[in-house]
Amino acid sequence: MARVLVIGAGGVGNVVVRKCAQVPEVFEYIGLASRTKAKCDAIAADLPRPIETAAVDAENVPELVALMRRMKPDVCIHVALPYQDLPIMDACLEAGVDYVDTANYEPRDTARFEYAWQWAYDERYRAAGRMALLGSGFDPGVTNVFTAWALKHHFDEIHELDILDCNAGDHGLPFATNFNPEINLREVTARGRTYEDGRWVETDPLSVHRTFDFPGIGPKEIYLLYHEELESLARHIPGLRRARFWMTFSANYLKHLEVLQNVGMTRIDPVPFQGREIVPIEFLKALLPDPASLGPRTKGKTCIGCWMLGVKDGTPKRMCVYNICDHEACYREVKAQAISYTTGVPAMIGGLLVATGAWRRPGVFNMEQLDPDPFMDRLNRHGLPWEARELAV
Ligand code: NDP
Repeated sequence: MARVLVIGAGGVGNVVVRKCAQVPEVFEYIGLASRTKAKCDAIAADLPRPIETAAVDAENVPELVALMRRMKPDVCIHVALPYQDLPIMDACLEAGVDYVDTANYEPRDTARFEYAWQWAYDERYRAAGRMALLGSGFDPGVTNVFTAWALKHHFDEIHELDILDCNAGDHGLPFATNFNPEINLREVTARGRTYEDGRWVETDPLSVHRTFDFPGIGPKEIYLLYHEELESLARHIPGLRRARFWMTFSANYLKHLEVLQNVGMTRIDPVPFQGREIVPIEFLKALLPDPASLGPRTKGKTCIGCWMLGVKDGTPKRMCVYNICDHEACYREVKAQAISYTTGVPAMIGGLLVATGAWRRPGVFNMEQLDPDPFMDRLNRHGLPWEARELAV
């Protein structure tokens, strides 16, 4: 039996808490803390079992430590924002709590996300006998596990990896993002980066695209992006020669994005406005729909997975592993759309595998470094069934 503290009561936090509540045989106690306690209480009021809620500023380490000492969690699942990764990792070390997140650290003032800052905690976590599990969402997260599972059971080496993320959901609004708008827009407006033979090749934002026929969905336009799991997979998957990440965008989304960029609304530096400073992307976030509000209106499916080329027993082999998720089915189950669902379920599973000891070991780990089998099994049991298919070479 374990005690879990979830930090962040947004779209993903809602799903993590509801999914933890579905596993009472593991999570005997659930705490939920976020900046706005009313959001935690609204989630708590709609659950079949009691949880404890609190307000916390997740950038304030002493406040976090006091909260952890009071709630006494074994594991903390952090699904607030990437800016809070390091203070929460510090607090977990001080309070003696294991740590799980879904997005790597990003400083507020530079759109630069990389694992270096969090990998630097490895020594301290090992010395303290604590575990930090990084990137336990869908991508990063499940995509890392799909790759590790394919390598364990189907390949001797994976040479080429394409991670494909298709959201064919329609919320009927002119423009909205499916997770935190600030983080989402920083990600998609960054330069593309792919891993090629041991080095990183950069491309202009959204300049490389092609059509891909997704299982269960059909043809969609996919765009090359940089995504954080490429960094850890390039480091941890031996033999990998090329790794790329692709995401679908509708023509409508791109039209709005282009205008917002051209007028400076996606800028992350402060600009003077009426005697004070504002950051345009933060103001834009206040105008855009809250991703959690898209749940009841989103229809359609997501398909996210890994398409791989490698060798088995000296013969070239190609295969894919993916999940298809239905927005409306997610809403019926947990009152959230599929992007929050596909992130929240793996965050719960990561927390569960750490808390039960199946994955627990001292240090800082990315998902592909751990045995993929218990995670793949849990995906099928907790709402994200996957398909694996061999393809023609
Ligand atoms: P939301 O914006 O909906 O929720 C974020 C929550 O964090 C809000 O409740 C917010 O509080 C809270 N928060 C923000 N700052 C603080 C703070 N200083 N202290 C305490 N709480 C704070 O985001 P999502 O739920 O959509 O996304 C959550 C995380 O999941 C993000 O880090 C995102 O990058 C990650 N993600 C990962 C994916 C993956 O596949 N790996 C995919 C999608 C998302 P308030 O309500 O008061 O604003």
